[in-house]
Amino acid sequence: MTVITQLRPGTWQISLPFQGEYDIVGSYLLVGENEIAIIDPGPGSTAEALLSGLREAGYNPQDVTHLIATHIHLDHAGAMGSLIQQMPRAKVLVHSNGAPHLIDPSKVVASATRIYGERMQTLWGAIEPVPQERVHVIEDEDVLRVAGRRLEVHYTPGHAIHHVIFFDVHSGELFAGDVAGVRLQGIDYVRPPTPPPDLDLEAWSNSIDTLKRLRPDVLYLSHFGPTSNPAIHLSRLREQLSAWGDFVLGAMRQEKSESEIIDLLVAQMDPQLQRITADPRSLHRYEIATNYAMTVQGYMRYWKKKHPERL
Ligand SMILES: [Zn+2]
Repeated sequence: MTVITQLRPGTWQISLPFQGEYDIVGSYLLVGENEIAIIDPGPGSTAEALLSGLREAGYNPQDVTHLIATHIHLDHAGAMGSLIQQMPRAKVLVHSNGAPHLIDPSKVVASATRIYGERMQTLWGAIEPVPQERVHVIEDEDVLRVAGRRLEVHYTPGHAIHHVIFFDVHSGELFAGDVAGVRLQGIDYVRPPTPPPDLDLEAWSNSIDTLKRLRPDVLYLSHFGPTSNPAIHLSRLREQLSAWGDFVLGAMRQEKSESEIIDLLVAQMDPQLQRITADPRSLHRYEIATNYAMTVQGYMRYWKKKHPERL
């Protein structure tokens, strides 16, 4: 199966086989002027697939010059430490809030182990530290010269406090990570990925404003692929973020438990998705991309911490 697709001159998409499924978790490859950059190389469990995708497109992993993170969640940056060992020319670019966790992943590993237990290795593979001297910290308003491009960095918290997007002003391509939500290919449905602990709806709304203001020609989602009508997509995301948040808040005010709220949310939202897609596997595929349990945990923590007055 082809895992690498050219989207535009110098821009490739790599589909990683996460939990045995393609087109749910992806990376982007930028090539130009003797530089090769990978945005969000993905989890350690798919690092080999990433490398074979590179070779399939005719590139040598040894020639990679930049590994770039939109944020440090394991499905985006888990493979950084293992990959950098095989890429002598590469440096890792990551926001200052995320850099310490790539250099010392022990906290990330501990909290993921509490959630995933014995499934850790299968889901995420090796999580190796990135040597400090290989890390290049980036901040809001930085401009990166990478692979013959000029990429603007914009800090976009809301989904995570270490989240940035990369915008190519000349081509209009915007590498969005998770702040533009989840929308699988061929399905006109945007789902809000709201895991704990950083979810912040006000910050996220401001980040959506940032993305809209840039007037991108295309959004490249991590989950998954290009979306060519950014304004409509982002409006839908904003509506969904707020509607799902209100739903969880309403259930909390009725003193429902976390597991009851998860069941209620599934019962409310799955039929919406089913109306849009004929493929019953879509429910499972969206669940792999962003699951209901984490969604509810993220919102519950947000309401308790940021808006206890509304409970
Ligand atoms: Zn994420």
